[in-house]
Amino acid sequence: MSYPQNVAVNGSRLWQSLMDMAQVGATPKGGVCRLALTDIDKEGRDLFVRWCEEAGCTVSVDRMGNIFARRAGRDDTLPPIIMGSHLDSQPTGGKYDGVYGVLAGLEVVRSLNDLGYVTEAPVEVAVWTNEEGSRFAPAMVSSGVFAGVFDLDYGLSRADLDGRTMGEELARIGYAGELPVGGRKVGAYFEAHIEQGPILEAEGKTIGVVTDCQGQRWYEITFTGQEAHAGPTPMTRRKDALLGAARVVDAVNRIGLKYGPFACATVGLMQIHPNSRNVIPGRVFFTVDFRHPDDSILAAMDGELRAAVAEIADGIGLDSDFQQIWYYAPIRFDADCVAAVRQGVERTGHSFRDIVSGAGHDACYLSKVAPTAMVFIPCIDGISHNEIEETTPEWVTAGCEVLLHAVLERANAKAE
Ligand SMILES: [Zn+2]
Repeated sequence: MSYPQNVAVNGSRLWQSLMDMAQVGATPKGGVCRLALTDIDKEGRDLFVRWCEEAGCTVSVDRMGNIFARRAGRDDTLPPIIMGSHLDSQPTGGKYDGVYGVLAGLEVVRSLNDLGYVTEAPVEVAVWTNEEGSRFAPAMVSSGVFAGVFDLDYGLSRADLDGRTMGEELARIGYAGELPVGGRKVGAYFEAHIEQGPILEAEGKTIGVVTDCQGQRWYEITFTGQEAHAGPTPMTRRKDALLGAARVVDAVNRIGLKYGPFACATVGLMQIHPNSRNVIPGRVFFTVDFRHPDDSILAAMDGELRAAVAEIADGIGLDSDFQQIWYYAPIRFDADCVAAVRQGVERTGHSFRDIVSGAGHDACYLSKVAPTAMVFIPCIDGISHNEIEETTPEWVTAGCEVLLHAVLERANAKAE
């Protein structure tokens, strides 16, 4: 289907909205602290709802507090094209993580209003509750309930460190909506987001066409050898658990490099027992975090890790306890939605490359129930989850233009 090609967004209006939202929970270092379901989060939500109502949208809230601002389509019975992300932040968060995807969605609606253009399918802007997982674990819990990954009771019963549940806090701030969570058809879901990594900026590209979300495997490993005196014990008679762990750290790094450029392999936590300078370590607990967008390669990495751990333990005479504690399958975004984003980039003439998301996003869960794709823009030095997180008005505008084109492409598509 066709739509007017001379469409544009108002980049300065979008930038101003980002700056206005950044005042809600602003920190002295220029960042934002807007933890999920706090009074500050309510203030941010209220501001978003006011802006959406001023833009003529109908606003509804579901039982997880997810907000949907709807702009009617010519055929309002068609499944909506949803844009969105999150408004909550880390305790020392930045101005753009999540907020950009929400306010870029709002700018698409405002731009459609300016153009006087009615899409065939309705268009919605969504705010997903508690994406960050900072106050309530796990992350992305409410988009997860929407996608059927978690059930509603699980979502509402997530508690913060003081024991207050999401259900209680939603009621307290007035965002315990009545709409059922999910269970309705979605035409397509598009999420614009800052990259949160350094690749686009380093390569001088303005847009990342996100094709995949990395899969993850998390492990916990304990090596047990024998504590012994660091002086009288000859080198050949030692069962040094830390030596084993060190060899695994090296093996993990080699596996990551072998399956580059997309593999990530990290040992980030280690506990040494008894952790005394003149005792040979008798027990070491450590973690491994593997990521790759291709499930078969992630499985190959898994196989190599298991073999390496067994061989290393055997060589030193250690007992090993090896557990995979989490598996998150890689996600390939919908080919047609990715194509709509790529077409949007071509029409707007911005430089781009395909990219894989290293972080989890609401879009990853949405992809289970809706054709989904994401648009990345660069952030300075790849820094995110940090008060100094920064991007530029040009990148912000470019990503929103691409979002507008992708949404128009899908919102005009004929229903199946
Ligand atoms: Zn985010």
